[in-house]
Amino acid sequence: MINIGVLALQGAVREHVKALEANDVNIVIVKKVDQLQELDGLVFPGGESTTMRRLINNYGFYEPLKEFAKRGKPIFGTCAGAILMANEIVGQADPHIAVMDMKVERNAFGRQRESFETTLNVKGIGDDVPGVFIRAPIIQAVGEAVDVLAEFEGEIVAAQQGPFLACSYHPELTDDNRMHQYFVDMVRHAVSANLA
Ligand code: GLN
Repeated sequence: MINIGVLALQGAVREHVKALEANDVNIVIVKKVDQLQELDGLVFPGGESTTMRRLINNYGFYEPLKEFAKRGKPIFGTCAGAILMANEIVGQADPHIAVMDMKVERNAFGRQRESFETTLNVKGIGDDVPGVFIRAPIIQAVGEAVDVLAEFEGEIVAAQQGPFLACSYHPELTDDNRMHQYFVDMVRHAVSANLA
C-alpha cells in the first residue's frame, strides 16, 4: 500500500486524513522529519501559511521538504498549503517551499467574501466540484509548465505542475473526495514510474 502523509504542524489535518481514508492508502500524520522517509506523497493542509512556515523552520522541516520535492515526490497543498508551494507571494520578499512556478496573492477575496462556497469546474475531475474558500489566496499567474485546473470569476484557483497540485479552496472540508482521489492517482503514478 502507498503511504501518504499529512503535514501536521498546524491547520486542518484531521479533515485531510478523513478525505484520504476513502482511498486505499496508508495515512501518516507527519510531526517529525524522519517520517518523510517512508512517504510516497504528502499533503500540506490549510491553516495559516506564516505560522506553518515558522513551525517548518523550528522543527527542521525546511530542507527535508525541499529535498522531498526535488525527488519528485507528489505534494498536494490546499489554501495555506498552496501558498507554501508557490515560488512567489505578492508583497513578500521570499517564498516558502517554492515548488511550483506560480505567483499567489494571499487573502485575495477581500473582507466582503472572506469565506464562501461555490461550485467549480475542475479539469480532469468534474464540473460540479464544491469549492469552500476561507481567507483564500488566488493564483495570480503561472509559468508555462503549470497546468491551470480551475478558475473562479477569472482567477486561477487550482493548478498542477507535474507531481505538484495546489488549490485555493478546501476540498477536505466537503464530502466530495474527488480532489484527494486525483492526488492519490498522481502518487500511484509517481510510484509506478519510479519502479519502472
Ligand atoms: N489566509 C491564510 C494564509 O495566508 C490561508 C487561509 C486558509 O488556509 N484557509 O495563510
